[in-house]
Amino acid sequence: MFARLLDSIVSGSVEIPPPLWEQTRAALPFLRRFDTQAGASLRELCARLLATKVMSGAGGLELTAAIQVAIGAQACLPILRLGIDWYRGWSGIIVYPSEYVARRRIQDESGLVHEFEETAAGEAWEGGPVIVSWDPDAHAPENSAFNVVIHEFAHKLDLLDGQADGLPPLDRRLHAGLDPHHWRGVLEDVWQRFAAAVDLVELDLPADIDPESDQADPYYARLPLDPYAAQDEAEFFAVSSETFFVSPQRLLDAFPQWYELLSRFYLQDPLAA
Ligand SMILES: [Zn+2]
Repeated sequence: MFARLLDSIVSGSVEIPPPLWEQTRAALPFLRRFDTQAGASLRELCARLLATKVMSGAGGLELTAAIQVAIGAQACLPILRLGIDWYRGWSGIIVYPSEYVARRRIQDESGLVHEFEETAAGEAWEGGPVIVSWDPDAHAPENSAFNVVIHEFAHKLDLLDGQADGLPPLDRRLHAGLDPHHWRGVLEDVWQRFAAAVDLVELDLPADIDPESDQADPYYARLPLDPYAAQDEAEFFAVSSETFFVSPQRLLDAFPQWYELLSRFYLQDPLAA
């Protein structure tokens, strides 16, 4: 039905058919909060993103126009008020059907090289592609606070200054009132408090429950964010950004000061829309 979208991408411009846009909005609850004007801006931005980035399917995924637009729309949510320029310096978006196995190669301090495999739902490389998986996160099922697309694109914003540290570059004009030292202080505080909360949950986990198993989920569900956010400040920023756009009340209730900073950085307040 929407196969022509793929053709138009090749020619350098994209027109998203209104029925396809409506279908995308209907499938993603957090896109429905926008009024007509903001919705139109998001659609226009999404068309620009699809025209300027190269999206490709991997792992046997057949990239349909519906998938392209759904991923494009979610990717554009964080930059709705910042602009497409915030995704400069790279061009590829790779989409896997679901979690995939990534081969890693790291060198330790003694120079020994370790190679191993791990499953991943997405990745963002500095100056390189964004990798996301379609199933299940990018569908954003109702009530889910997880969103792999927003997560990886938030990493891209953080990486724009060359450092994955949870502090994206601040624009002198757009972010005039935001102070990087204040940001770092708040981030450090909320991240450490969250990491302590994760430690408490883990202490509470019965020894016979594998923390990686589904049985552990009810324990982690007490946390306001995905426990992965405890990893480091960069992951805390990416996970918080997911929650900020998809389940904002949850983030506001847990970390109001941090919510306010994110709102001033993204120039949006999802709860006010
Ligand atoms: Zn991450």
